[in-house]
Amino acid sequence: MRTRFAPSPTGPLHLGHAYSAMLGHDMARAAGGVFILRIDDLDRSRARPEWEAQLKDDLGWLGLDWPEPCRRESDHTAEYDAALDRLWDMGLLYPCSCSRRDIREALSAPQEGLSTAVPETGPDGLVYPGTCRPGTVLTGPRPKDATLRLDMRRALAAPPPPFTETGHGPEGQTGRIETTSVHMTNHIGDVVLARRDMGAAYHLAVVVDDAAQGITHVVRGEDLFEATRIHVLLQRLLGLPQPIYHHHRLVRDEHGKRLAKRDDSRAVALYRQDGATPEDLRQMVGLSPSALR
Ligand code: GLU
Repeated sequence: MRTRFAPSPTGPLHLGHAYSAMLGHDMARAAGGVFILRIDDLDRSRARPEWEAQLKDDLGWLGLDWPEPCRRESDHTAEYDAALDRLWDMGLLYPCSCSRRDIREALSAPQEGLSTAVPETGPDGLVYPGTCRPGTVLTGPRPKDATLRLDMRRALAAPPPPFTETGHGPEGQTGRIETTSVHMTNHIGDVVLARRDMGAAYHLAVVVDDAAQGITHVVRGEDLFEATRIHVLLQRLLGLPQPIYHHHRLVRDEHGKRLAKRDDSRAVALYRQDGATPEDLRQMVGLSPSALR
């Protein structure tokens, strides 16, 4: 078993992250496998070496270990470019110049027969209305400094593959999860796979990384359940192996509200400063202490 924790070094490690990391580490250790730490630093404008150092320090303090050196996404842009070229050559990508505002406006404009429809929200926000989607397959070289979207309808020429889930997903699912083409088209849509200012986008990079690192079990929050559907589709399109997915519950505050990524008052570093022990944190997120070394 090879699990991974892939934080973005754009802020402090908070309790929700710590839960995900400890769970992945516990699962790998229980199976005699390997836990891998990967640094998701594609967003160069927000990633900082100080945050990377801090999160490694926090993870070490929690009792986790991992093989070094860690894979850092910013060192692998050529691999993401190769995957984008492949999807482009398959006629599955198109450039998009819409801003968020353009998308909102396009969706709020009255559409024939749909004037009262509430715009659908997918894993990345509003489902793209298709404004820039070309009528025919684009040829020629892939535009390099452009936002590129996946043409979901074309990508679904074969139905999306089911995937295996060992956690509980958002609706208490386990086992093989079916995904329909209708769901992919209507509730996910033409997702962004490359960004003008960033190169590869998360969905593309994550499947390339998981395959490159031989990840067998992806342990992640159930907030990423819908995104997983995109990842298994991309794995099929790119001929990559499909890991088993374990979507875990989200850590909530005392009012039952999900901890926001930016809730820095839940930073592991602050609990450390206040004298908490790693065991205290395990208990707070509902993990058994017994797995600690
Ligand atoms: N960098 C992503 C995050 O922190 C990775 C999540 C995942 O792919 O499991 O949300």
